[in-house]
Amino acid sequence: MNRIDVLGVEFDDLTMDEAVERALGLIEERRAAYACTPNPEIVMAARENASLAAALKDAALVLADGVGITKAAQMLRTPLKGRVPGIDFAQALMARLAERGGSVYLFGAKPGVAEAAAEKLRGACPGIAIAGTSDGYFTDDKPIADKINAASPDFVMVCLGSPKQELWMAEHAGRISCGLMAGLGGSLDVLAGNVQRAPETWRRLGLEWLYRVIKEPKRITRVAKLPLFVLEAARKGRG
Ligand code: UDP
Repeated sequence: MNRIDVLGVEFDDLTMDEAVERALGLIEERRAAYACTPNPEIVMAARENASLAAALKDAALVLADGVGITKAAQMLRTPLKGRVPGIDFAQALMARLAERGGSVYLFGAKPGVAEAAAEKLRGACPGIAIAGTSDGYFTDDKPIADKINAASPDFVMVCLGSPKQELWMAEHAGRISCGLMAGLGGSLDVLAGNVQRAPETWRRLGLEWLYRVIKEPKRITRVAKLPLFVLEAARKGRG
């Protein structure tokens, strides 16, 4: 499989449509594989967190979550076909699953958010079965794994933030009954309507991250490593 290295993380070189097709194939295999959607922050974190790096390496699908990754790949002279933002990927995949009466389990975010997201999904994506919901603030995850096993869904949205979601999926890969899991950060908050996505123009210009910082200034500490990421890509790209 063609993977492209972006500062230590190997990304699958796929368009959105190809990523969704691959995901449907993995769902058919039903081996509880998982997909990750790293952004520059996660790539930088993986350099200092060996367990996170290993979890990303073992993922069946590694998708370029944003413009930071595709720009860096360009600077490194190994361009990716395009970006595949996690939330767009999840929505496109659920639309396809809905056509065949597939099911999704919503795992993560604060209590009540996954239920609100389920409600919205029932309206936006009729045909998809909601196999269950669990919030992401637990002390013991055994009951959650049991609940997922019992529901045996096609797709599990794992929205615990990074690196919690990647580590959780790596630990449970091949050990729970489901088609495919995907680590999708704050996507349940977006689906529930609690967090607005950037307007289309901002997204097209690759400025979604800036919009999120403006809306939620405390995120500034999270993008603080972005300049380092860009510099590193520029340095390596020249070398
Ligand atoms: N979260 C969770 N359990 C935790 C920590 C975080 O379920 O222990 C959730 C949090 O409520 C939010 C998501 O994980 O819904 C992380 O969202 P964030 O916006 O940080 O992720 P991003 O989209 O930036 O990756």
